[in-house]
Amino acid sequence: MKYALGIDIGSTATKAVIMTSEGKIAASAVVSIGTGTAGPKKALMEVLDKAGLDRDQITWTTATGYGRFSLEGADDQKSELSCHAKGVSYLMPGTHTIIDIGGQDIKVMSINDRGGLVNFVMNDKCAAGTGRFLDTMARVLNVEVTDLSDLSEKADEVAEISSTCTVFAESEVISKLSTNIKIENIVAGIHQSVAKRVTSLLKRCGIKETIAMSGGVALNKGLVKALENEAGCKIHVHEECQLAGALGAALYAMENTKKAS
Ligand code: ADP
Repeated sequence: MKYALGIDIGSTATKAVIMTSEGKIAASAVVSIGTGTAGPKKALMEVLDKAGLDRDQITWTTATGYGRFSLEGADDQKSELSCHAKGVSYLMPGTHTIIDIGGQDIKVMSINDRGGLVNFVMNDKCAAGTGRFLDTMARVLNVEVTDLSDLSEKADEVAEISSTCTVFAESEVISKLSTNIKIENIVAGIHQSVAKRVTSLLKRCGIKETIAMSGGVALNKGLVKALENEAGCKIHVHEECQLAGALGAALYAMENTKKAS
């Protein structure tokens, strides 16, 4: 049996996947530390430990993500766009549009039936609508980012956030809190503001069914629902959505393993 490793070193989190030559996932790990050395090191140790392997048993390592050029011992690097396209196609065959929201960017991709990238659009440098925007808003509300989904489910109204800029939106949230607007309704407003921003990118790229969402922010079901309402289409999310990039990298690594032998 041969093993290939894919590692996605993001701005916020590091994800790692070990793939077997039979095309199965042997182990995976998600560590909430992104680019740098600590996150990748921890993710590597964790994934190898879960698979019961040593690093020298890995035949090929492909790195992707924002910090992909910083990983020592990687055999090659691939773009996040190609890896997400490949990973999502593996998890959800038949996908033609991918919305990937990570810690610092939003990407919308059109892919073909073989998981190849056809077109993409990205947000500008601004953090609005990204995971970082949601992390900041959660901190202002004194809740965990993982609580946002449940809170938005309990909203009875949407407290609209008009500013897209993170700094202005933060002030708006603070001012809403001071006027005793329910936190649940504020969270619904935050989700709606992200949904509007993502929908405009989705329209620019072109909506082609089936639509899937990848990246850590896809774990927020309340946000996915707000996005479905705003875009007027069904968005599919796989439970391993945050691993999509690392999985795509592992699939590329396995192709190289096979070529090498
Ligand atoms: P990157 O690759 O840029 O590091 P990820 O795709 O790993 O980003 O996503 C990280 C973001 O996902 C975080 O900023 C956080 O907002 C969000 N996130 C992670 N886990 C959850 C969760 N369980 N519920 C809601 N949001 C989450």
